[in-house]
Amino acid sequence: MSQDGGVQQLGFEGMPRRLYTCTPTRLSTWLDCPRRYRMSYLDRPTPGKGPPWAHNSLGASVHNALAGWWRLSVPAAGGLLERGWIDEGYADFPQSSRYRAWARAMVEAYVAGLDPAREPVGVERTVATRTELIAVSGRIDRLDDRAEPGGSGNLVVIDYKTGRHMLTVDDARTSLPLALYALAAGRVMRRPCLRVELHHLPTGRVLAWEHTDASLARQLRRAEDIAAECAAADQLFRGVPPGGEHGPAAGLPADQVDEVFPPRPGSWCGWCDYRARCPEGSEASEPRRPWDGLGAGSAASPEDPADAAGPSAGEPAAGEPAAGEPGAGEPVAREPGAGEPGAVRPAIGSEPGAATWPGGGLRPGGGAWPE
Ligand code: SF4
Repeated sequence: MSQDGGVQQLGFEGMPRRLYTCTPTRLSTWLDCPRRYRMSYLDRPTPGKGPPWAHNSLGASVHNALAGWWRLSVPAAGGLLERGWIDEGYADFPQSSRYRAWARAMVEAYVAGLDPAREPVGVERTVATRTELIAVSGRIDRLDDRAEPGGSGNLVVIDYKTGRHMLTVDDARTSLPLALYALAAGRVMRRPCLRVELHHLPTGRVLAWEHTDASLARQLRRAEDIAAECAAADQLFRGVPPGGEHGPAAGLPADQVDEVFPPRPGSWCGWCDYRARCPEGSEASEPRRPWDGLGAGSAASPEDPADAAGPSAGEPAAGEPAAGEPGAGEPVAREPGAGEPGAVRPAIGSEPGAATWPGGGLRPGGGAWPE
């Protein structure tokens, strides 16, 4: 493990590298916190998580409604949102109802700017690609074909965002998942796919980045490097001896587990599903209620000011595994050294690459989050 040297200290330098099968979420989880990676992907039985988060429920409800809208090809997004509303994690029925109405307006405003006749190339589409070192797959929220009739435009990877977290163009530029999906989509479709877009529904902003072949190649190398660390740690966990793929599956001695999978405690641990099982994370963070990520006070005190830092954590990221898969609904990847989940970032309107989609800004109800 290059960040702190843990894996290298245990003698896995020079190990043969085998094909590592992964999702971008798995790689991101390793970067975020190796202990959380272990608990999400390796520990068996899988440790129990905390209760469901309301902001994950909201994000999943919106994603499902937008995916279903294309399949129905009628302007029924609001009804789809209502029928598929997931109410897990909310403080009570009134709070869930307020957010349902808010999300309905948000979804309706968004689809009002779409042309239902211009169907995307893919909706909730799984794409995959491989190199000599990794086989990576995941699901794209939407894959658009921006070609004009008779033209040969590029494909565009689109990722819906519903959190309070203010996004920047840098989020689109540095996103490892978006880059990998662009690469995979381009290879599967045999067409250029360089543009990635984050569509932030609460603000109506599109944060776009145009990759180059070189920048996608850099992201792929980055994914391979992370995967190499994951693969080495996985093998240590399973007890595969250095220099060989086979051997007694002795497992990792208990006193070395934290060396290979160290915790990365911080205030973001308040949003971790495994916080209750993690002494360092519990120490480093305040406990969060399941609806705190909504950032609108509590049912008991609905007029409370919103949390200063609602999490980016929990927003379904492009191509994340379906609910129930390890890593589903986990915090999105952060660049090393980037702000904590939920860190409030500067307004995005004036940044290059930021735009509103056709139909103008959204902000249903004047842009305020439900109180
Ligand atoms: S609580 Fe924090 S340190 Fe512990 S596993 Fe979760 S993210 Fe890692």
